[in-house]
Amino acid sequence: MNIDEFPTYPPARFLPGTSVEIRDETTPRGRIRSALFDFDGTISLVRTGWQDVMVPMMVELLAEHTDESTESLERLVHNFVDRLTGKQTIFQMERLAEEIRRRGGKPLDPLAYKAIYNDRLMEVIASRREGLRDGSLTPQELTMPRTHELLDGLRERSVTLYLASGTDFVYVKEEAELLDVADYFDGGIYAALDRIEDFSKAMVIQQMFREHELNGAELVSFGDGYVEILNTKEVGGIAIGVASDEVGTVEVNEWKRNRLIQAGANLIVPGYQDLDALFAYLFDEPSDKKGA
Ligand SMILES: [Mg+2]
Repeated sequence: MNIDEFPTYPPARFLPGTSVEIRDETTPRGRIRSALFDFDGTISLVRTGWQDVMVPMMVELLAEHTDESTESLERLVHNFVDRLTGKQTIFQMERLAEEIRRRGGKPLDPLAYKAIYNDRLMEVIASRREGLRDGSLTPQELTMPRTHELLDGLRERSVTLYLASGTDFVYVKEEAELLDVADYFDGGIYAALDRIEDFSKAMVIQQMFREHELNGAELVSFGDGYVEILNTKEVGGIAIGVASDEVGTVEVNEWKRNRLIQAGANLIVPGYQDLDALFAYLFDEPSDKKGA
């Protein structure tokens, strides 16, 4: 199989009356002590649309060195961007440089591409960040619906929360504060630093295991990217694939869903709208606890 091709998976079992899809019926329940969260697309909607900035930018740069059709370049770029989502942004830029080189071009330093990307993305998202700062937008409007309830519910169940993102640390920290979620992460906030080797999601997971003497069943992760699901499965953790459309609605994004399943997600959710059922499943609690 071509590494850039993903199969399409038929639906598995859903928790009754919900959008929570159980992909692994052997998922351990009732033992979670630590949770790892991805940020963009999993909690934050501030950077929604980042792919629509990154992909066209890369297609445009590649087109200078090849006669390939825009459509085939789009497919190529979309696939490797996707596959690297969850790693630091610089890895996507390194792959771009490699693809330019492969087509006979002389690429810039990947850091230069990252700077171009950050500038273009900032143009798109500046008004959202400003809106949060001046109060014209609320944190709820720019987070996945019911995120704060999800985080509250985990803290109430004595789960230690960690945040890890491939976006630069300064942005993650600032946006987490603007969205009123920073204080939930008693385990810490981790993100891309100047030196590539100083951060990866796998490193954060290793740290979690050291700090809490965890075993796999005690770790749950929430993410909408390939890498965090893969890293979680490598240590036997429970991976919840958030196949969000990143606009805050309740539809599952099929593209993401298939990739998250391929990475090994135990569960797929389009968002957190069925939070009570999700908690009941993960913590092995009666699902009618509020008698609603
Ligand atoms: Mg993400």
